[in-house]
Amino acid sequence: MKELENLKEAVLKEFPRLTKESVFKFNCHSNISCFNMCCTDVNIFLTPYDIIRLKNNLGVSSQEFLDRFTILPIDGNQNHPVVMLKMKDDENKSCPFVGPHGCSVYKDRPWSCRMFPLGVASPKDAGSGENGEFYFVIEEPVCKGHLEPKSWTVDEWMDAQEVESYSANGELFKEISLHDYFKEKKQLTPAKLEMFYTVCYNIDKFREFVFGSTFLKRFDVDEETINDIKKDDEELLKFGFGWLKYCLFGEKTMRVKPQQS
Ligand code: SF4
Ligand code: SF4
Repeated sequence: MKELENLKEAVLKEFPRLTKESVFKFNCHSNISCFNMCCTDVNIFLTPYDIIRLKNNLGVSSQEFLDRFTILPIDGNQNHPVVMLKMKDDENKSCPFVGPHGCSVYKDRPWSCRMFPLGVASPKDAGSGENGEFYFVIEEPVCKGHLEPKSWTVDEWMDAQEVESYSANGELFKEISLHDYFKEKKQLTPAKLEMFYTVCYNIDKFREFVFGSTFLKRFDVDEETINDIKKDDEELLKFGFGWLKYCLFGEKTMRVKPQQS
């Protein structure tokens, strides 16, 4: 985590800041000499939406996905749990999804794999007090993609990598993970941290909570939403973010049903 803090600091101070119209040179293809080398010994933080896409690609429950493929790094400065992809215990520390022909979960690969070699910085979350998100290019020594002649604007790259639904869900997640509550240095109780983890990372367990408890007797949720969240993980995640705003931060995002006499 220290490494990550150092990278954040360097990005804010030293890296050229790109907009969506900025141009950079890069190409990645299966004939390149470094093919697959970026898929070993790499720190990949998983977003809630990444986990939904990956567990559905693999046809496993969110609990099984978390047990088999993730680690929970612990750092005293964290406000909430974060989840990372667990590299294999082999010589190269390979990603569990890399194979001889590349990424075996390519159509559902995580946001950070799609974005590479681009990163996004939100100075607010780095505590600099500046405003405005920007993009930057990560140049890993192992990666030869920067030597290729093809060029892209940031926008073109993101379109080609189909990041739209990832970015939209990422923005909703930021409303929770970068909430003002945390800026005031408030700490969540263990029960609230558990609820954060369940909603954000264990969506199937959250569904059990909504449909297998008194939740729908206590809260006024319309029929259309109930039908949507019953079968659609993405809709359930959006609903869950609203629930977290209510139960973690006390926002009026849920309606309590009047007491039946
Ligand atoms: S998920 Fe796919 S693209 Fe990302 S590191 Fe693993 S193999 Fe590589
Ligand atoms: S190291 Fe760079 S160019 Fe090589 S496969 Fe990975 S992303 Fe593509």
